[in-house]
Amino acid sequence: RALTSALLYLDNITVSFDGFRALNALSLVIGEAEMRAIIGPNGAGKTTMMDVITGKTRPNQGVALFAGTQDLTSLDEAAIAQLGIGRKFQTPTVFDMHTVEDNVLLALKEDRRPFSNIYWRRTPHERERIDELLERVRLKDSRFRRAGDLSHGQKQWLEIGMLLAQEPRLLLVDEPAAGMTDQETADTAVLLREIAQTRSVVVVEHDMQFVRDLDVKVTVLHEGSVLAEGPLDQVSADERVIEVYLGR
Ligand code: ADP
Repeated sequence: RALTSALLYLDNITVSFDGFRALNALSLVIGEAEMRAIIGPNGAGKTTMMDVITGKTRPNQGVALFAGTQDLTSLDEAAIAQLGIGRKFQTPTVFDMHTVEDNVLLALKEDRRPFSNIYWRRTPHERERIDELLERVRLKDSRFRRAGDLSHGQKQWLEIGMLLAQEPRLLLVDEPAAGMTDQETADTAVLLREIAQTRSVVVVEHDMQFVRDLDVKVTVLHEGSVLAEGPLDQVSADERVIEVYLGR
């Protein structure tokens, strides 16, 4: 039986490193097909929060439920990925030597060891999925290029496409706009909004223009817990938030 209708439910999560609380009674709820932006100064606990959700870090205390029933705090990283939680790190990790479409094919295959030419054969279903995914991440025209020759922004999109190949229910994205041109940044906001029509997305971001473009509810973390939550205009007018960002 589902304990909550939220897709992700974090309650009272604490993570201590030698007595220092990187997360301090953090509570956060993400709905189905909701995109949320997480902001906060350096050291606020954003990365640690993502690490808890993906099973990289085990909390000392608290509850982390996925899809109402799955207790993430008792699962390892592989099991959590299997549940449908995908994470995109800041630096894209695509296979530079392979073409764009072969990168997507690799992401579609269960077995990730290309041991023979047969491996690179596509089933009709795989062809269809590759087309769909490349269309989605705006790389159809670059399908035969080597991934290593893409721009930084295109590599980020390719990696997002590779993550979508796994059909995650929740996608965690770490600073996607870092290092992107203004145009790529704007396109990425549109792309993420499209993705969030069918799945939940959590975006950690520093670029406030990008957060504004996302146009979603914002959670401000500070010292390991939630300082403020709401539309960007509202949280950025909040005295406590201003104080934290200006360091007064
Ligand atoms: P953010 O991503 O918001 O910048 P982090 O989650 O990386 O914040 O870090 C939160 C705090 O926890 C920081 O003060 C950081 O130094 C500390 N911290 C993070 N990971 C570790 C670790 N493995 N050991 C000790 N301290 C850590």
